[in-house]
Amino acid sequence: MARGKTFIISGPSGVGKSTVLKNLFEGREDLYFSISATTREPREGETDGVHYHFISVERFQELIEADAFLEYAEYVGNFYGTPKKYVDKAMDDGKDVILDIEVQGALQVSNKRPDTIRIFIAPPSWDELERRLRCRGTDSEEKIQKRLVRAKSELRTADVYDYFVINDTVDRAVREINAIMLAEHCKPAERMKILSE
Ligand code: 5GP
Repeated sequence: MARGKTFIISGPSGVGKSTVLKNLFEGREDLYFSISATTREPREGETDGVHYHFISVERFQELIEADAFLEYAEYVGNFYGTPKKYVDKAMDDGKDVILDIEVQGALQVSNKRPDTIRIFIAPPSWDELERRLRCRGTDSEEKIQKRLVRAKSELRTADVYDYFVINDTVDRAVREINAIMLAEHCKPAERMKILSE
């Protein structure tokens, strides 16, 4: 069985990543979503162990010291990290892994694992991003402004990504991500591995 691949999906908060990912995962047993650990408070409707592992700053520090993270980063005042062992297990089981992480973390993963594929999801416009952040109704005005500033700086680094998807409609964004994933599996190096097995 071929080992799974890792796909990073980054994009500013409010871009609609969670909806895109929810649709991408529908009926896909061959995909594994990496559940991150975070020190931020759960939002309404978020469940521990489903959306994130919600942990304390102390526990997060312990996990850093135990080298349990493939990558970790600070984002708008909170820490976020990818637990390493589940990612490796899923890939060994032949599943493709999706990491929903921001750009600093994406850089760390690319340095450690250059065969990771990076996809950036952008909003159709800044106005639309601001509108989506406000519609969510979960963050204070201060947090919204911080997230917008961060979004602009993230977009400036997006040209180091392998692919760029604009989330104007969810269906189209999902179709493009599926096409990217399929194409990556059709690369000669991948296909040769299967032939030589
Ligand atoms: P939110 O607070 O909106 O759920 O997430 C804020 C940002 O943190 C998003 O851009 C999301 O992709 C990113 N993020 C979530 N989990 C991780 C992680 O494990 N590592 C890194 N580096 N970023 C993460």
